Amino acid sequence: METKQYRVLLYYHYVTIDNPEEYTAQHLEFCKSIGLKGRVLIAHEGINGTVSGTVEQTDQYMAHMKEDPRFKDMVYKIDEEDDHAFKKMHVRHRPELVTLRLEDDVNPLELTGKYYSPKEFYEAMQQEDTVVIDARNDYEYELGHFRNAIMPDINTFKELPDWIRENREQLEGKKILTYCTGGVRCEKFSGWLRKEGFEDVAQLHGGIVTYGKDPEVQGELWDGQCYVFDERIKVPVNRVAPVVVGKDHFTNEPCERYVNCANPECNKQILCSEENEHKYLRACSDECRVHPRNRYIVEHGLTEEQVKERLEVLV
Ligand SMILES: [Zn+2]
Repeated sequence: METKQYRVLLYYHYVTIDNPEEYTAQHLEFCKSIGLKGRVLIAHEGINGTVSGTVEQTDQYMAHMKEDPRFKDMVYKIDEEDDHAFKKMHVRHRPELVTLRLEDDVNPLELTGKYYSPKEFYEAMQQEDTVVIDARNDYEYELGHFRNAIMPDINTFKELPDWIRENREQLEGKKILTYCTGGVRCEKFSGWLRKEGFEDVAQLHGGIVTYGKDPEVQGELWDGQCYVFDERIKVPVNRVAPVVVGKDHFTNEPCERYVNCANPECNKQILCSEENEHKYLRACSDECRVHPRNRYIVEHGLTEEQVKERLEVLV
């Protein structure tokens, strides 16, 4: 088997970081010095990152982090790739690792749901009186999710607590399973559920990414692909019986191709085929199609006449 030259590392660790701003600057300098690319968030409560680099660069990074007592136990999900998954290296300081905007914050080091291995999660999902909640955003869910998982009708993760409060009766007395991409969001969300009075809460340890790599479950009961926040956009999960659940924004046909709406003020991510991208001027709505700064029109140098012709076909 051919070995790939690059790797993508996905990781997080909740641990107290004193002087996070200072550490942010140091960390950025270190990452740049070894040629790593990616996006890392640093907060007083910990670190959360995705980075890409050559095998040597990523080894160097992990070795460096292991030397630091705060991060010695950090777990890395490793994907072998042919290239970088980022163009630049960003390390940013944030007030919190995930934006839950809780009135009183939850510290995962003090309170969190049970950790379920992929096997335990797989089995629990199929039991009665179990509710599976997707702790991600809607555009992530649309590309792929666990079969029968509930997608709270929210726009961003920070709206999740309100949704749970409004839908309490659906969840009361049941086992609640939560999952997200790598596990960082569930650490807080499951703790928050416990705080809200739900007794039986478990989270998928290591997230969807770990579930897809698990040699036993091999991603079973996952439908579609897993959305990731780097240039790859999606990674496969189900290695047993993969299906497509993504739907073209315009025609509802099976689709796993994401584009951003060409209206720079909208920029919404929509699934659409190449054909429909051209047909609909890569815009999510009529309003976005005729936006004066529509990027598709600019990129393709379409004249007013040409735009008119395309719009006429759509009526
Ligand atoms: Zn739009």
